[in-house]
Amino acid sequence: MTEDGSDATDAADRYDVVVVGGGPAGTAATVFTARDGLDTVVFDRGAGALDRCAFLANYPGFPAGIDVGTFQGLLADHLETAGAIPVEDSVVSVARTAADADDGARFVVETADDRRVRTDYVLAAAWYDGSYLEPLDDGDEMFELHEHHGEEHERFDPDYPDDDGRTPVEGLYVASPAGGRSAQAVVAAGNGAHVARSLLEDHRVAAGYPEGVAARYDWRRRAGEFSGKWAERDRWREYFEAEAGDHDLDEARFVELRERYLDEAFATKTTDEEIEQRTEEAHHRLLDHLDDEHIRSYLERQDATAADD
Ligand SMILES: Cc1cc2nc3c(=O)[nH]c(=O)nc-3n(C[C@H](O)[C@H](O)[C@H](O)COP(=O)(O)OP(=O)(O)OC[C@H]3O[C@@H](n4cnc5c(N)ncnc54)[C@H](O)[C@@H]3O)c2cc1C
Repeated sequence: MTEDGSDATDAADRYDVVVVGGGPAGTAATVFTARDGLDTVVFDRGAGALDRCAFLANYPGFPAGIDVGTFQGLLADHLETAGAIPVEDSVVSVARTAADADDGARFVVETADDRRVRTDYVLAAAWYDGSYLEPLDDGDEMFELHEHHGEEHERFDPDYPDDDGRTPVEGLYVASPAGGRSAQAVVAAGNGAHVARSLLEDHRVAAGYPEGVAARYDWRRRAGEFSGKWAERDRWREYFEAEAGDHDLDEARFVELRERYLDEAFATKTTDEEIEQRTEEAHHRLLDHLDDEHIRSYLERQDATAADD
């Protein structure tokens, strides 16, 4: 047993990333970490701002708006398709693991339903609640007194993380609360994605990637983008070497990382057939979230209009 009371040799409930909160910020963050292949668990239960929103009219991509229930259903579905593990449970504390933890985990996370998981990274994304981070607050820097409706109370200081969500605690990232960036759903989602990219960049730097090539781009490229000189791996090698700049990696490791980078780039290549197939799957998936009655009445209206014409 380690000082933190857990068995460090037990590989169960060990994740790369724990995301706290499955609202817009946490879901967006998770889509990025899970799609990059990091084992990500998302705990989501407790006070949430989105639950109080009557109807979401300003989220881009929904021209007539979207009801909150359907939107939350889409977010939850996206967590799973991205490869993350959603868990309906509330995080009550995040603490450092003992120095002798031999699984390398930085944090132990405890939940209201007595789950206990170990992880390398924690990404906080719960707008109303930062209290679970208190065990990590070494220097009384995380919380501040805040006046609300004439009453003072302690709250998580939104300026504790930097603009990219990094904090003084290695491995801890905060996407929410983030001041004004938490105030609108689409901004909160964008910030969640941005903070996840900070985490991924740091993870890649730790793996040895030179900083110039550490940023993660989760892009799909049309096959046509891989034409001319960019169809050749040598052109990408030149690009990687120029962007990497000076580094202190040995040649073998540099080549290994460069080729992995190229593999990732070429894996983004998407043919017209794949686009067509994915489009059909995506439309079906959207239909899964729509009310059957509304689909039927829409089709009846379309038929009636066609008959009139
Ligand atoms: C009354 C009201 C109306 C609004 N209307 C709009 C609007 O029309 N348009 C708009 O753009 N924005 C609106 N907003 C703002 C919008 O709701 C927020 O910008 C957005 O929800 C913030 O996203 P978030 O992911 O940071 O936090 P949240 O949406 O609060 O999500 C946090 C999630 O974390 C979970 N959680 C909390 N604590 C824990 C814990 N300890 N462990 C695990 N999970 C936890 C919660 O259950 C929640 O699901 C409104 C807000 C309010 C209060």
